[in-house]
Amino acid sequence: MRRDGKRAVLKHLGVALAIAFGVLRAADPAGSGELPSGRVVDLSHAFDADTIFWPTEEGFVLEPGFKGVTEQGYFYAANRFRQAEHGGTHIDAPVHFSAAGRSLDEIPLRQLMGPAVVVDVSKPCAADRDYRISVSDLEAFERRHGPLPERVILLFRTGFGRYWPDRARYLGTEARGDDAVAELHFPGLHPDAARWLLEHRDVAAVGLDTPSIDYGQSKHFETHRILFEQNVPAFENLANLEALPARGFSVIALPMKIRGGSGGPLRAVAIVPEN
Ligand SMILES: [Zn+2]
Repeated sequence: MRRDGKRAVLKHLGVALAIAFGVLRAADPAGSGELPSGRVVDLSHAFDADTIFWPTEEGFVLEPGFKGVTEQGYFYAANRFRQAEHGGTHIDAPVHFSAAGRSLDEIPLRQLMGPAVVVDVSKPCAADRDYRISVSDLEAFERRHGPLPERVILLFRTGFGRYWPDRARYLGTEARGDDAVAELHFPGLHPDAARWLLEHRDVAAVGLDTPSIDYGQSKHFETHRILFEQNVPAFENLANLEALPARGFSVIALPMKIRGGSGGPLRAVAIVPEN
């Protein structure tokens, strides 16, 4: 049974990759049928016992299963894992904060792959753990790097990725449980900036290197609600954003396809053309 399951997972992955390659081929002006050449940057943290989850969650648990040589003489290994949907590098599906929003399996794949930019807000975030990325940060980015591309995957580099997996530095507290939520201090996207993006720009998805698109002190999760009402999903706890240029690269961010899921583990990569 477990071996059948493994085959199903491989088949699923094969279909997802075939679609990804198809989309990239369509975007390939030379028509070579190849993936765009370039440096591939892994934007996901590994899932293990140190992976950061919300203080109210248990975390990632790997239950080791059989590992060794079977009676038939071949090597075999298979484990089980369990975790909350929202933890580690993951996607928030719009239904996370919007009753009519799309669930994980309903997000169009086209929204999860395409041109991307990174807005570097690491300086103000280093000075203020509660920093909220503003409209003027977005305007400053465009003055320097040009307008945001259409259907952009918009990433924010707060610099907090460098603290991973140190809970105290990354979250602002090592405490766990309901009471710890009030002690969270990390940057996020200001609701006014989220509104501005939806009104004035064409955004496919947003992402950042903190646990939440709303800042740690948020009580009403306004930025989540504003984005998800318009079916714009968010990638959280992204890794390696410092390895990306400001613009001119692509992102492919494919989550596990949980039917009805409000979010789930995300394997995100960037492809950065080499000049
Ligand atoms: Zn989430």
